[in-house]
Amino acid sequence: KKLYKKQKLNKSMSTNNEKTNTVRPPIVAVMGHIDHGKSTLLDYIRKTNIVDGEAGGITQRISAYEVVHKDEKGVDQRITFLDTPGHEAFSKMRERGAKIADIAILVVSATEGVKPQTIEAWKTITESNLPYIVAINKMDKPEANLEKTKMELAENEIYLEGYGGKVPFTPISAKAGTGIDELLSLILILAEVENFNATPSENASGFIIEAHLDSKRGIEATLIIKNGTLKKGMTVVVEDSITSTRMMENFMGKMIDSATFSSPISLVGFNKMPQIGGEFKSFDKKSDAEEYAKSSTERKNDTKNIQSSVISDKKIIPIILKADVSGSIEAIEKEVSKIQSESAEYKIIVKGAGPISEGDIKGTDNETIIVGFNVKADKNATELALNRNMTILFFDIIYKLTEFLTEEMEKRRPRVEAVETTGKAKILKCFMRTKEKQVVGGRVLEGVITLDGTVRITRRDFEIGKGKVVNLEKGKIKTSAVEEGTEFGMMIESKIEIAAGDVVECFT
Ligand code: GDP
Repeated sequence: KKLYKKQKLNKSMSTNNEKTNTVRPPIVAVMGHIDHGKSTLLDYIRKTNIVDGEAGGITQRISAYEVVHKDEKGVDQRITFLDTPGHEAFSKMRERGAKIADIAILVVSATEGVKPQTIEAWKTITESNLPYIVAINKMDKPEANLEKTKMELAENEIYLEGYGGKVPFTPISAKAGTGIDELLSLILILAEVENFNATPSENASGFIIEAHLDSKRGIEATLIIKNGTLKKGMTVVVEDSITSTRMMENFMGKMIDSATFSSPISLVGFNKMPQIGGEFKSFDKKSDAEEYAKSSTERKNDTKNIQSSVISDKKIIPIILKADVSGSIEAIEKEVSKIQSESAEYKIIVKGAGPISEGDIKGTDNETIIVGFNVKADKNATELALNRNMTILFFDIIYKLTEFLTEEMEKRRPRVEAVETTGKAKILKCFMRTKEKQVVGGRVLEGVITLDGTVRITRRDFEIGKGKVVNLEKGKIKTSAVEEGTEFGMMIESKIEIAAGDVVECFT
């Protein structure tokens, strides 16, 4: 603590003169190896620290929540927790340069010690320059070994306070709830040292942390406000996606009129699916918002930053790839890029270390290939996949995966459609026309015109529509085909009104 206080003094001296700024509650992401207790920790904090009489009765609908904890002076302070399994949400957001979390908690099990994803998470944290706290979990278990865990951390260059470094840590049991108060206090101290602040008088801005299509409510997204205030009547823009704040809910699904920084909120009614990790801005005037969205579209077009399937003429087959460590992801990415066909290619749209979660597959359809490499899918993801008829595939050997993808590419690549003209005829006369059928007379210019054949109708070399030959006669006698040079009468079924002079082409 002493060390923090000293740092704090230095920091606050440099920021004190920004008068309009006020302290902003920290936004915290929980990261670490699978099964080390991230969800248990988040659940425990949620259950015991949300101050709202109704909290018990309301199911939290979004992946973030706010708690209140007393600081050293006994004053209530807010903390926002990101409830997405931190690591993957992170890599997605980091790819887009979005800095959402202010502080990370690295959960390490005292029974298992440092594992590959512990290192992965730590790398992500340090590369993002995030201040962090190590929570050594499962201390209630008889085999928990605090010293050994600290040593393993040190072996991996994570130097805890009092153990050769400055990284704050606390032993906890997410299950029993021991040490959680200390952890929350540590978060507040760290936040104070870091001196996060924001300006309430500004229009709100921040990031999208999740988005999905709800069959009743439309496109719904969760936003984390990082600065300013969002009020009812404002318009929110994420790139070229727009919505009003008419239906603004807090993380417990309660309608609210305004929200301020660090709060997670939910908005409905977006006209397009906003990107996860996308930055949002808010406007008092709808026209300003529309202007901003328009300029964002132009910017996007400029940079050709097109994410959907129009990158080239090729069909894009999306892949969601989750793996145990980022080393595997890199190796798989390399292999996947080699699997190509003339008409299709793969694009990894989501990648990350850790199990397949609901968030990974939420916004996708069943065209997407979902792959877990040496990882499992969590319960919610499995259920969602089942409901949506999507298949999740698991592999533990890279060549098995590439073998599968090669076969799948062959099945899915678009076949080239070759159109062959079998005959051409000129329409000489039009006799009668009912709703969609007309009787015409003509002469075959080349090839054959056949009964039941599909025809392309062209006028001055331009295709004006298609039709079907439903009756064909030569010299008033029904026939199945007429050849070059022959005059004929026929009935064509078509939405287009044929005129004398048009050419019909029979094709397969
Ligand atoms: P995650 O994958 O990191 O989210 O891990 P979970 O929170 O799902 O926890 C994995 C398993 O460890 C679950 O069976 C938890 O009940 C258990 N667990 C988590 N924290 C503790 C703890 O502090 N003590 C004990 N004994 N078990 C825990």
